[in-house]
Amino acid sequence: MDYKDLANLIFPDSKEISYYEEKYPERDLPEGAIVTRIAPSPTGFTHIGGLYQGLIAKKLAVNTKGVFFVRIEDTDQKREVKNATTEIIESLNKYGLEPDEGMLNETEGKGEYGPYKQSLRKEIYQSYAKYLISIGKAYPCFCTPEEGEQIRQKQEAAKIRPGYYGVWAKCRNITVEEVIEKIKAGEKYIIRFKSPGREDRKIKHHDIIKGNVDFPENDQDIVIIKADGLPTYHFAHAIDDHLMRTTHVIRGDEWLSSVPLHLQLFHELGFKTPKYAHIAPIMKNDEGNKRKLSKRKDPEAAVNYYDEEGIPKEAVIEYLLNIANSNFENWRRANPDKSVDEFELQLNKMSVSGALFDMVKLLDVGKTIISRFSAEKVYEESLNWAKKYDKELESLLEDKEYSLKVLGIERGNKKPRKDIAKWSDVKENISYMYDNKFFETNQNYEYQIINDKQDIEKILDLYIEKYYDENDDKQMWFDKIKELAGELGYAKEVKEFKANPEAYKAHVGDVSTVLRIALTARSNTPDMYEIMQILGKESMQKRFEIAKKAL
Ligand code: GLU
Repeated sequence: MDYKDLANLIFPDSKEISYYEEKYPERDLPEGAIVTRIAPSPTGFTHIGGLYQGLIAKKLAVNTKGVFFVRIEDTDQKREVKNATTEIIESLNKYGLEPDEGMLNETEGKGEYGPYKQSLRKEIYQSYAKYLISIGKAYPCFCTPEEGEQIRQKQEAAKIRPGYYGVWAKCRNITVEEVIEKIKAGEKYIIRFKSPGREDRKIKHHDIIKGNVDFPENDQDIVIIKADGLPTYHFAHAIDDHLMRTTHVIRGDEWLSSVPLHLQLFHELGFKTPKYAHIAPIMKNDEGNKRKLSKRKDPEAAVNYYDEEGIPKEAVIEYLLNIANSNFENWRRANPDKSVDEFELQLNKMSVSGALFDMVKLLDVGKTIISRFSAEKVYEESLNWAKKYDKELESLLEDKEYSLKVLGIERGNKKPRKDIAKWSDVKENISYMYDNKFFETNQNYEYQIINDKQDIEKILDLYIEKYYDENDDKQMWFDKIKELAGELGYAKEVKEFKANPEAYKAHVGDVSTVLRIALTARSNTPDMYEIMQILGKESMQKRFEIAKKAL
């Protein structure tokens, strides 16, 4: 009786590993092409950190003409959430991070290196486990969970390293004959890796992000196949990233400490090791303390949050690139009009300790991005958002022609308006331009320098009766406001006022402010000339009457 007999007894029907080695050959790609992936577990909402990893992986693949794929890691079936895979894929697609290969939904996938969901790869893992058993590098372990707990307690009491290793690895030295007997007698078991490592020896490892790191060798006989026949993360990682021909494993840095084990697994299985890049998590400043963005505490940790708030996807992607590479900001400054696709992300420029997520900055990016959109695009995107989240905005936007005019104010020029950071800002920013909405709401007028009732009335009356003409161009329009100011004893130029403040009550700018507030009930709006052109004289008249009544 030898290891081969044992392997055949445990996995009688498994294929030879050569079958899989041939089925999934080396990829035929140009020199330097990066094959990488994200490997999410289907356990619920997509975390912004998942999108971040997806973005990094996709960019590297695209920039090097490589491959980006998605593998669903569902070996912990108790934690699986319904439809989570579909949601992950939809989020990626929505943000322009379509994988080249991987699952498309819960059941279907695309690509030659699949299946891309671990529960569908059970036979593959078992073949490799069989192979390791047949060469004496893996073995069945009959320890029950209770025995495991006893071992742990003894180790704790003796203050020694926990785990299944060395003298603690009870099942490691059972003879093949005895093992076969136990199995035939129906004893339950799992499969463990027989680690060749020694804790007192060190290995050197180079991580693309973290740099050079030293670790003790792994000496733990970790579980590779669990009682349910499925692999553990570690084993599946080695098999999958080998067979899927991953060149770069880019993953969260909580896995950095597992590198010694993973290198050992690759080595014992006879696989070439991939390069590793361990990404620090996105951090948050929580009242002075830096901590990980948390699924539980922070709504902005969920990708859905950005959708609900109406933060444009372009802004989210641009901001994540900002976090990923600190040189992105300079690149953007030098190339304000280029698409982010042209930015070459560099893994070795990623933060080692974790970049801070700053909502204010993200919204600022949103403002700049939206300021570059055409009125048509702003219209379409706001309408799509409104249909899902804001019925009132949806009804405002019903009149497309009018809405395009409103959204077109100060757009398409050198210094476009920058007052919208997210689609949920749109209503507040445009609602005053809609007569129905404006007239049905009780307005609150807060006049500033000029706030005397009679002065205001005079300005409004005179302006609409004598000066306003819809055919005026912008220069004429402004000259008329100056004349109005002059006629009522205000300085026609700010300069004149400053030179001689005693001679005037106020200046032309203050007169404009009165007009602006009476028209819109706000002191801050985009270009008033354009606003008047869009509203038209009739609406202006009505608005002035209402403003006067409210005095
Ligand atoms: N399923 C693992 C996780 O979600 C994947 C780690 C990896 O990318 O290898 O953390």
